[in-house]
Amino acid sequence: MTFEELRAEAQGCLACNLSSRRTNVVFGEGNILSPLVLIGEGPGDTEDKTGRPFVGKAGQLLDKALAEAGIERSSVYITNTVKCRAADWSTGRPMNRAPTEEETLACRRWLVPQLGLIKPKVILCIGAPSAKNLIKKNFMITKERGQYFPSEFAKTAIATLHPAYILRQQNISGDGGFSLLVADIQKAWEAAQRLVEKDAMGKADKMVIEAEEQGTLF
Ligand code: SF4
Repeated sequence: MTFEELRAEAQGCLACNLSSRRTNVVFGEGNILSPLVLIGEGPGDTEDKTGRPFVGKAGQLLDKALAEAGIERSSVYITNTVKCRAADWSTGRPMNRAPTEEETLACRRWLVPQLGLIKPKVILCIGAPSAKNLIKKNFMITKERGQYFPSEFAKTAIATLHPAYILRQQNISGDGGFSLLVADIQKAWEAAQRLVEKDAMGKADKMVIEAEEQGTLF
């Protein structure tokens, strides 16, 4: 299945309750050839309306952090562990809530093949829920952000603070962790670039060995 076929199929997904109130399935966007994939928890109101990930206030802060790290948003791929907005509708007005374990598990049917097709070198988990989901259940974001962890979907995974958390922490005397977000993005990007270079060198070495073997054979 191609990436576009997968994306098209996801648009009609009814695999969990979140399908009943969503406006759009927010599959993800960006460069599917990127060695770096950013993964948040799930779409919010603006994302649900537009069908694009990280475009609300938190998304705008993420864009600012990417720009400060010297990276164009279009050069990475951005998505979420859950593709439909999770909200509590009990008061009549939707209030964002964390996706349940069941919803997150159901949405793996898209995340896993999505990452399987992109084959990123590095995954950057945006926020604690994403890190708990993709790195380890007991992930402690303030202690363990910015560190390398093994990943089943990439060579390595790193987690960073969620821009929505940073917005809540920011005040006149502090940046709320914005500089840490920038540093983690930079670290993840540089690691991804190094892994790409290492791969290219490995391939070049392999070609030299193969050429030498051909030389001895013929
Ligand atoms: S959250 Fe994921 S599994 Fe649930 S309906 Fe949306 S796309 Fe399907």
